[in-house]
Amino acid sequence: MSNVDEHELDKFSQIAHKWWDLESEFKPLHEINPLRLAFIDQHAAIAGKTVLDVGCGGGILAESMAHKNATVTGIDLAKKSLKIAQLHALETGVTVNYRCVEVETLAAEAPASFDVVTCMEMLEHVPDPQSVVRACAQLVRPGGWVFFSTLNRNAKAYLLAVVGAEYVLNMLPKGTHEYARFLKPSELSRMARNAGLGIETLAGMSYNPLTRVYTLGDDTSVNYLIACRRLD
Ligand code: SAH
Repeated sequence: MSNVDEHELDKFSQIAHKWWDLESEFKPLHEINPLRLAFIDQHAAIAGKTVLDVGCGGGILAESMAHKNATVTGIDLAKKSLKIAQLHALETGVTVNYRCVEVETLAAEAPASFDVVTCMEMLEHVPDPQSVVRACAQLVRPGGWVFFSTLNRNAKAYLLAVVGAEYVLNMLPKGTHEYARFLKPSELSRMARNAGLGIETLAGMSYNPLTRVYTLGDDTSVNYLIACRRLD
């Protein structure tokens, strides 16, 4: 496998049993999920559509999209996380097709086969994010929607996502995030354009540590979402 950091996959495998524990390291992903689900659905109206979730982990987003009547495939390379995702889908009685396959491999196997592709909080864990963005663009049909979310790279994001979340609040295990892999919105937009995607919307997800509430808005300084469409 080429575009994989085994150390990153190990980190997720070690805590895979906690994916659905709302008080665990994955709490922030559970808390932002309704915001990103609404953002995706507002743009792409996913009911009845085929959706691919890249780097699906335990299936937090994948399941929620299936609950909105999308036909969802989730892919990841951490086998333990996929097992947990499958068990949880059985438990909740929702259907998601989980597969352990590299996104670049799937893009070569089944190009243009999804109406919507989502890739959330994953690009900051891979050696070559441009390659993942390109594969996502190849997997969506012409005119289809592709969504990414990741962490911005600046002093504030470093302080909040690394120092604050990992060292002060202990919300995340130390070493969860590698600052050098964070992407500025301009960098991610350029990768998307290079892959033949047009940028439709950029939105920020901010966390208020006092109220402990996440909101969607214009502040892209830490965590942000980007909605793109395949142009050709
Ligand atoms: N997208 C999910 C999980 C984010 S955590 C959500 O937002 O809820 C990051 C995920 O990316 C982990 O599940 C990890 O196993 C996965 N990942 C890391 N490198 C990957 C790679 N090269 N290919 C596929 N998945 C990868």
